[in-house]
Amino acid sequence: MNNTFFNTPTPANEPVLTYAPGTAERELLQAELRRQMQHEAEVPLIIGGQSVSTGNMGRSICPHNHQHVLARYQKAGSGEAESAISAALSAKPAWEAMHWSDRAAIFLRAADLISTTYRYTLNAATMLNQGKNAFQAEIDAACELADFLRFNVHFMQQIYGVQPAINSPGIWNQLDYRPLEGFVFAVSPFNFTAIAGNLATAPAVMGNTVVWKPASTAVLSGYYLMQVFKEAGLPDGVINFVPGSGGEVGDPVLANPHLAGVHFTGSTHVFNDIWQRIGGNIDAYRSYPRIVGETGGKDFIMVHDSADPESVITAAIRGAFEYQGQKCSAASRMYVPRTFWNSIRDRFIDAVGSIPMGDVTDFSNFMNAVIDEKAFRTITGFIDRAKASDKAQIVTGGGSDATRGFFIEPTVILTTDPHFITMEAEIFGPVLTVYVYDDGDYGKTLQLCDETSGYALTGAVFAGDRHAVAKARSVLRNAAGNFYVNDKPTGAVVGQQPFGGSRKSGTNDKAGSHLNLLRWTSPRTIKESFSAPTDYRYPSMG
Ligand code: NAD
Repeated sequence: MNNTFFNTPTPANEPVLTYAPGTAERELLQAELRRQMQHEAEVPLIIGGQSVSTGNMGRSICPHNHQHVLARYQKAGSGEAESAISAALSAKPAWEAMHWSDRAAIFLRAADLISTTYRYTLNAATMLNQGKNAFQAEIDAACELADFLRFNVHFMQQIYGVQPAINSPGIWNQLDYRPLEGFVFAVSPFNFTAIAGNLATAPAVMGNTVVWKPASTAVLSGYYLMQVFKEAGLPDGVINFVPGSGGEVGDPVLANPHLAGVHFTGSTHVFNDIWQRIGGNIDAYRSYPRIVGETGGKDFIMVHDSADPESVITAAIRGAFEYQGQKCSAASRMYVPRTFWNSIRDRFIDAVGSIPMGDVTDFSNFMNAVIDEKAFRTITGFIDRAKASDKAQIVTGGGSDATRGFFIEPTVILTTDPHFITMEAEIFGPVLTVYVYDDGDYGKTLQLCDETSGYALTGAVFAGDRHAVAKARSVLRNAAGNFYVNDKPTGAVVGQQPFGGSRKSGTNDKAGSHLNLLRWTSPRTIKESFSAPTDYRYPSMG
């Protein structure tokens, strides 16, 4: 068979549908939203391809209407976590023995199902259960997810093609890209259906089998994704779906000797806890588990006085308030020179005040509700601290109402203290804090920005002056794993801007690139000699 036969299709980003009034996609999505609102779904665990019930039930609700139940799901306990591990280990030999082109075909078919048959199912579940509007759900659950699958298949092929460049005469050197020995534990956050899908599938693309624990507030889209994988031909047991409490599922999984890796996205403190527990169990494991975690952020916008004011206003609004600020990359602190701030302040405040917020099924809304009551309390707690402080002032927003849904107004805090809590801590809500610096203090403020927060995920500089851009790029080199010039710090696209940060933002293994897939393989080097020496003596010995 020649190489052409094995070449996987060249990936391209899935086109984003608009859902503008009058489009076919808008009608199809609205019909699916109605269906999911009217029919309560039953979500089982899926272990070794079998639906499993525990009788311990959780509820999937709408954040914008928290009394509405979309689904009831089974919760796994330690027994089911052990069964999921056994299922993953049983499925492993056949899965890793399968030719990679067959694995590729399964995930390419899954991507096609996501962009066709399941597009509206996944988008509607992401809207209703995770609180995204139509356009944001489209970018996440349809496009980014299909992109992850298509690009990962492409990266897998590229990795397999990387072989030792030199073979001495009579020698053949090869790298055998083995999957890890054991199983991988995928633990996903609530905020991106695409991330959840990628956490579970990226190790599987490389021949690993997976125990997947989705976030309790994002079970429904995960369940539909399991249907996609099955329809695409994924063998039973390759990905096992075990919603449940982090501790109840996590404890037995992290203590298992066959744990080969953890693929995590979520908050820094949960990741620290997972890492510590792996450290505590280190003598029990057969191999050193690979630990990959993308965690929190405190993402910045740095404005230079040569910046374009309209671009800054738009980037701040989109960056801070899209999806209610519940993105790890959301802009949450902004540094602005005084004269520039005075020139944009009123327009900015008016624009933020005009943001429509409400039900996800009303497509005219830009913002919706935050994910749950816990998030609502945490975010409003930060706002209350600003209200009570003499170092901070709410310049717009600050209101909230959880009567029907968990709604929090887009809020801008102005602070005189660059180390005020809302400049340093991850809030994960629609709150942007602005620190106004003295004109001429750009260099000093870049240093301040670098040293303010423990996180280093995303950040943006806005400047027309090229010296200012170059200076920010240099001073802030370690302050963000994804750095933007004259663009908002959110919205990384698979295959274009590999995503991840360092410091307290994670291991920076760049989701959506070959770098991530490299973590799911343990290469074996094979040296074969075609004419092995037959005399032990060196030539120099005469
Ligand atoms: P979270 O940390 O609360 O939960 C993440 C997952 O960990 C969930 O599935 C949860 O059930 C699980 N979990 C909790 N305790 C556990 C335990 N003891 N053992 C095993 N699993 C456990 O995060 P979240 O609220 O779902 O998501 C928001 C966070 O995710 C934010 O901090 C955000 O910055 C981060 N995030 C980061 C990225 C990134 O790429 N850096 C992307 C998206 C979200």
